[in-house]
Amino acid sequence: MPAARLYNPPMTADPLRARVAEILPRVRAIRHDLHRHPEVMFTEQRTSGVVQRELADLRIEHRAGLAGGTGVVGWLPATASPAAARTVALRADMDALPIHEETGRPYASQTPGVMHACGHDGHTAMLLGAARVLAASPERPHNVLLVFQPAEEGGAGGEKMCADGAISGRLLGRPADCIYGLHGWPDVPVGAVATRDGPLLAATDEFHLTIRVRGAHAAYPHLSVDPVVVAAHIVTALQTIVARRVNPIDAAVVTVGAIHAGHANNVIPETCEMNGTLRSLTDTNRALLETEFKRIVSGVAASLGAEAALDWQPGYPVTHNHPAATARFRTIARRALGDSRVLEREHPTMGGEDFSFYGRHVPASFFFLGLHPGDASPPVNLHTPRFDFNDDALPLGVEMLSRLALED
Ligand SMILES: [Zn+2]
Ligand SMILES: [Zn+2]
Repeated sequence: MPAARLYNPPMTADPLRARVAEILPRVRAIRHDLHRHPEVMFTEQRTSGVVQRELADLRIEHRAGLAGGTGVVGWLPATASPAAARTVALRADMDALPIHEETGRPYASQTPGVMHACGHDGHTAMLLGAARVLAASPERPHNVLLVFQPAEEGGAGGEKMCADGAISGRLLGRPADCIYGLHGWPDVPVGAVATRDGPLLAATDEFHLTIRVRGAHAAYPHLSVDPVVVAAHIVTALQTIVARRVNPIDAAVVTVGAIHAGHANNVIPETCEMNGTLRSLTDTNRALLETEFKRIVSGVAASLGAEAALDWQPGYPVTHNHPAATARFRTIARRALGDSRVLEREHPTMGGEDFSFYGRHVPASFFFLGLHPGDASPPVNLHTPRFDFNDDALPLGVEMLSRLALED
């Protein structure tokens, strides 16, 4: 981690940067307001209201009520011949998490047990900032779709936005030719952005498994099948998927995150519940994990005389960065920031993102925006009670989103 803060540009050297600096207090105020009032997936009514208020204030045509009620899409046509212009979509997510905040910030969550622990308050505020920059821009060579989605944290809000026509032109504007999104990233220094071609985040699938047997007194195990023993065999056998089925060159994860069975030392319970997550970086491996998982669960359970009821929950696809859209991002970012602030991620991360759904429709590219202050402190991880989006990252986020809509 570099010792000094990286992002300290001369604020007047570049007109766009000067404009970003002008509106920064408003972006910060919106971020803090959203942070105070976090809303978990599909309940983002107030947040959606803030977004709509800002778009209305900017006289940006928009539609609300998408993706279950809180999604919003705005439309800014190119200043000359929108019908001939390309359409760039920019996406932000709005939802918070069921975590109790421990940041001690003056603008900390006022809702006990709910907080912006993934920084979506920053994402939404920055896209509103970019909307302000773009609305005032004397020239816009591209059309812009501003996509504010609910429910990134497990609700597949991105998939619902696509289904509701947010980027197809069906609802508003014209069909997107490409889409960009970002995520504040704790281990990337403020002032830098980071990305890679191809897979950047993993596909995520979930399972909930119930092993059902006839229970018994613990002293008479021969009168039952012990679901705890069955679960132990299943957990062990599942380890062979990554170790012996996935190509060792590839990355994959099979995690059993929870096992619940029994309540007494002298009772063999009738059920054992297990749940967990599977992660992969290609569609092929995603399908392989599912097939192998199901085969092992049903095979092991049957071999031990137990019944296994599987509730398979497909999650998010791989977040795959389109090479052309990502090359465009790099060109724009390097021109603005210099090569040293545009970092390449050598490896994908096994986290997931529902930005991936947009990439199923149009060339998509996702990047990480640096949040680390650049001192010796360890990064504060996403989804933890002390995480807070770094305000120092706001100007670069607004700037990059604006440039992606204005430049090539
Ligand atoms: Zn998250
Ligand atoms: Zn997130």
